[in-house]
Amino acid sequence: MQPLTELGDEALLDAVAASGGQPFQGRQVLHWLWRHGAEDFAQMANVPQRLRTALAARFVVRGSTLASASLASDGTEKLLLRLGDGETVECVLIPEGERTTLCISTQVGCPVRCVFCASGMDGVRRNLTTGEIVEQVLVARRRLPPGRRLTNLVVMGMGEPMLNLDALLPALQRIHDPAGIDMGARRITVSTSGYPRQMERFAAADPAYNLAVSLHAADDVLRRRLVPTAGHSVAEIVAAAHRYFGRKGREVTYEVVLLEGMNDRPEDAVALVETLGGLPCTVNLIPWNPVDELAAGGQLRRPAAVRVDAFAAALRRGGLKVTVRRQRGADQAAACGQLRRRELMAPPTGDRGSPTA
Ligand code: SAH
Ligand code: SF4
Repeated sequence: MQPLTELGDEALLDAVAASGGQPFQGRQVLHWLWRHGAEDFAQMANVPQRLRTALAARFVVRGSTLASASLASDGTEKLLLRLGDGETVECVLIPEGERTTLCISTQVGCPVRCVFCASGMDGVRRNLTTGEIVEQVLVARRRLPPGRRLTNLVVMGMGEPMLNLDALLPALQRIHDPAGIDMGARRITVSTSGYPRQMERFAAADPAYNLAVSLHAADDVLRRRLVPTAGHSVAEIVAAAHRYFGRKGREVTYEVVLLEGMNDRPEDAVALVETLGGLPCTVNLIPWNPVDELAAGGQLRRPAAVRVDAFAAALRRGGLKVTVRRQRGADQAAACGQLRRRELMAPPTGDRGSPTA
């Protein structure tokens, strides 16, 4: 049965009308769905029982369920959602002072296959639907303690967002909609490994979200070693990101996952300064979060803090703005894609599939 979360406003109003409901009742259902995050028809208190029954004969409210939740000692909570077809996808809640950031996924797996990333290890299974993307927000929102609300959204979970814009753009509209989830566009950031044509399309969409670009290296040969499927040069990607700034007025963030001896050398910092110097941007350094299977070969190593600091200092001397990401939720396999992999690899046990709340 189709989840209501897959329907646009008009389709939902039509469905309510076809089930014998009045237009105002359609708007009530919309309100329950997006504003209150109702999980089933029973929670839609002011919707008449007859209408709820008629809708329940044709629809479910949501398509995914919470399969597991694991809380790290630093307060980061990793959620695994089971989708209608049994696939799983991750999202992560990250409380930090007054802020609470949610990191969501756009695909089951990822076709880009960056050498350091758990999400890409088995390639992509499929795109998420619009409803599946938004449901991550609905599910995560309900986990927050009273008085805490979601303040920021980052599309930095599993998958390459630019390869699923058809589903992502309406999902972001939905998340942004002041009548529904109501998250400001300035608080939403989409991260891409660099698809210039799709970045243009993203730039053409309203409103203006923040863009992050996973650059990792300014040298094309080195970058292709890290992002083996990259079909575009660094120059093309940076040019597309700069056009995004020109159109939206939003400074782009460049992410660099640092791997010891591979892309954290002094010459790598020099190359980044040459490529990004003078552009309105910030570089976010992310010391690699080890993934067991990928670390096993010994090629990929997380750099020590002193190396990260030296790299950051070199970029700053070159005039770049730099932030360094603290490791969050490491004890719960926080690097994207790891929780899902762990579950796929784990032998079946009786209690898998039940929420650990
Ligand atoms: N596919 C998009 C968005 C999801 S990945 C992209 O690549 O931008 C989000 C960020 O997490 C990217 O910057 C990616 O390089 C980084 N990342 C992936 N695996 C990681 C790991 N094991 N440790 C640290 N960062 C990682
Ligand atoms: Fe895909 Fe991003 Fe992981 Fe690369 S880092 S494999 S683009 S999810």
